[in-house]
Amino acid sequence: MDTIVRKKIRIFYYSSALIAMAVVALAVTVPYFIDSRKNYALLTSEIEASIIAASKRTLENSVTRTIQEIDTIRSSTLAEFKALCDAQAQAFSRLDAQAVQTLAEPRRDGSHPPPGTPLTLADAGIVIREQATGRVVWTNGRQDADAFTHIKPGEADAAFPVTATASMSQGMTVTLFFRSASLDAVAKERAKALIRAVRLDNDSYIWVNEIRNYAGGDGYAIRAVNPNLPETEGNPLSTNTPDIHGNLPYKEELDGINRDGELYFKYYFKKVNSMKITQKLSYAKLYKPFDWIVATGVYTDDIDALIQKRKKALTDAYKAQIHSFGILISVVFAVCAVLFFVFERRINAMVSSFISRLQEDDHELRDKNDRLAAAYAQLEQVAYHDFLTGLLNRYAMSDRAGEEFSRSARSGAPFCLILADIDNFKRINDTHGHDVGDVVLAKIARRLRTSLRQEDVAARWGGEEFLILAIDCDQDTGGILAEKLRSVVGGKPIRVGEDELHVTMTFGVAAYTPGKTFDEMLKDVDVCLYAGKQRGRNCVVADACRGAKAT
Ligand code: GH3
Ligand code: MG
Ligand code: MG
Repeated sequence: MDTIVRKKIRIFYYSSALIAMAVVALAVTVPYFIDSRKNYALLTSEIEASIIAASKRTLENSVTRTIQEIDTIRSSTLAEFKALCDAQAQAFSRLDAQAVQTLAEPRRDGSHPPPGTPLTLADAGIVIREQATGRVVWTNGRQDADAFTHIKPGEADAAFPVTATASMSQGMTVTLFFRSASLDAVAKERAKALIRAVRLDNDSYIWVNEIRNYAGGDGYAIRAVNPNLPETEGNPLSTNTPDIHGNLPYKEELDGINRDGELYFKYYFKKVNSMKITQKLSYAKLYKPFDWIVATGVYTDDIDALIQKRKKALTDAYKAQIHSFGILISVVFAVCAVLFFVFERRINAMVSSFISRLQEDDHELRDKNDRLAAAYAQLEQVAYHDFLTGLLNRYAMSDRAGEEFSRSARSGAPFCLILADIDNFKRINDTHGHDVGDVVLAKIARRLRTSLRQEDVAARWGGEEFLILAIDCDQDTGGILAEKLRSVVGGKPIRVGEDELHVTMTFGVAAYTPGKTFDEMLKDVDVCLYAGKQRGRNCVVADACRGAKAT
């Protein structure tokens, strides 16, 4: 029983613990997984946007930096030729006009050095003027000298960014100058060399298209620099040239440049060191002084590869995070399970010791109870029974008779009282001794008791007097019963040791009549008994009061 209850409690305990742990685990893990999943999705979507944005920034930075370098080259070229001109003008100032004309070989045909010929100081334009009037005395005809002579002395003109003037003897001035186009040609070559040398990440490079016609069309530009296709440098370009998907990248580029001076655009182009044609994301910006579109691009499959790589790294990190969390939860789960197990063992041990203490107490209590019950039974025996005969004593008989009076008063059931007294008992005592008298008393009591029905009650009423309560018994049957008892007692001698004693008893009988009390009935039977004694003993007297009938 105990084992079954314990088993049930253990099952309940462990299932409750398991459910509690599962609920806690769910409460922790579900929000965690939802959050992680959300973050993962967010980061994944951001990766693409951020890589594309970073790529665009890189493209723009590369182009902007290149344009700054071009501009620096242009400025330094001007500064370089300005320094040369200044020095030469100073040198000429020590000569007269004739000497300068002799030194400076004039180019009368007004032509320029062929393209690619390095520009030197010898290519500078020279003008000799009368200082006072500004009248041109002589020019060497170079660097658009005719156009230069139309500019007022000392006035700045964008077409001639480098000039150097010095005074000579005889009121003359000498001016050396370079036209912008010549200097820019130098700067362009220097810039091209630099740009060709530039190599960016992912096989990227800078290329330059020099615009000849902002309106577009065939030959709208020439390819000035293209490290990917160096053999095509100098080739004319057309806004009508499509890529393999039918886009018009040159037109899109020119439109964007005309509109904003810069643009991002996508088209298909050959990869570096490969014949593969893939989509390219490019950024182009105009460097107006040279009419150069400076551009660079990145192949979108490279961007995609980077995106995939980052996404994979993120996915791996996400998986590792989930894995770690899973391990953490498992460890916590295992620790809780161990704690629950230890706790259960401990509680179990405590309950066991408590139960065994209770059981001990229970045994002790039962023992005490049994002893108390035995003592009570003993007490009852002593309190309600006569010690010598074992019959009810006077007190118990009064109690029992009281009950019968109430019962008969209610139901009208008849009953009789029979008072029996041993005849000449004193003589027995006197003759055989008190102990023999006691034995006689006990044996007569047994004879009376065994002759009665179960429901009838017999009591030792006095010394050698017995009172019998005969249930469901009227006057006549009461007399018959008393007669039966008389013959039982007197019919056979009582053996005590060697002696055989002839003992007789006299009986008084009274039947209950409604309204009678116990004391009144006792008086009645006593009167009957007395009458029996008077009549010679060993007889039954029923209803002795007034005309008692003796047998
Ligand atoms: P009667 O026929 O008139 O009743 O005569 P009797 O001798 O029986 O009556 P009596 O009242 O003179 O004497 C009763 C005797 O019973 C006296 C007493 O010593 C004796 N007796 C009473 N109780 C006990 C007892 O418990 N044991 C013994 N052995 N004798 C008892
Ligand atoms: Mg007597
Ligand atoms: Mg007597």
